[in-house]
Amino acid sequence: MGIPAEAQQEEKVSTVEKRWTLNDFDIGKPLGRGKFGHVYLAREKKSNHIVALKVLFKSQLKQSQVEHQLRREVEIQSHLRHPNILRLYGYFYDQTRVYLILEYAAKGELYKELQKCKYFSERRAATYIASLARALIYLHGKHVIHRDIKPENLLIGVQGELKIADFGWSVHTFNRRRTMCGTLDYLPPEMVESVEHDASVDIWSLGILCYEFLYGVPPFEAKEHSDTYRRIIKVDLKFPPKPLVASAAKDLISQMLVKESSRRLPLHKLLEHPWIVQNADPSGIYRG
Ligand code: AMP
Repeated sequence: MGIPAEAQQEEKVSTVEKRWTLNDFDIGKPLGRGKFGHVYLAREKKSNHIVALKVLFKSQLKQSQVEHQLRREVEIQSHLRHPNILRLYGYFYDQTRVYLILEYAAKGELYKELQKCKYFSERRAATYIASLARALIYLHGKHVIHRDIKPENLLIGVQGELKIADFGWSVHTFNRRRTMCGTLDYLPPEMVESVEHDASVDIWSLGILCYEFLYGVPPFEAKEHSDTYRRIIKVDLKFPPKPLVASAAKDLISQMLVKESSRRLPLHKLLEHPWIVQNADPSGIYRG
């Protein structure tokens, strides 16, 4: 576990079990507030490495019975190494708090960007979707399903690259799962209906995300939960006339939002889809 600048050095240090304490960090400005605590900009004193320090209150974790979920999140995220997945460098705790040492995503929340712009250009949407597809291919290759891909769980790095940031609902899977989790709008039919699901749930969510990037709202949004539920089950997919979106994008979304999970477009095929090939920046970075 370590936070040096160079990856090579990082791997060497990571085999050494370093016990971090709050004294190892200079604490800077608050970056945000989550459900269970606060996130601060921080600098590791020895290496000068800038990180985001997430401070969670044990009492709140206990009250909400999410200790087990946090443990799983830490276990999974700390082993992942991908440019579009937020690094978790390590953790430590004291009597009242748990601290997560996270990669700092300098450009903040994607969700806020989407709110600001209402919807993204096709270039921007395709660049993000391709980055996420690559990150999900990596995750699925490690038998990890994310299960909660949505704008609120995505951060933007210093160069404009997308980072999957929240692994609270992710699972290491060798079996098919039946657990209901995540936010309703992004749930695929098989999770809404609590039948078995596998890695293809993330393809569905990526389809929802692609729609929301291009139209500014998720496709099955409705006033009542029960209506969203019904629309998901029926795959009641409609493309409004405005904003104007290329038919190639609609084709891609329609191939991801397929009720039968085994027939959803595989992620490597998504990367070859004409809309992605024509619009996504090959660097994976949206420069604005
Ligand atoms: P969370 O508890 O994960 O919801 O985080 C609360 C807020 O802190 C987020 O909405 C972000 O604005 C900010 N934040 C969390 N993690 C990071 C990070 N690694 N880099 C930059 N900002 C972050």
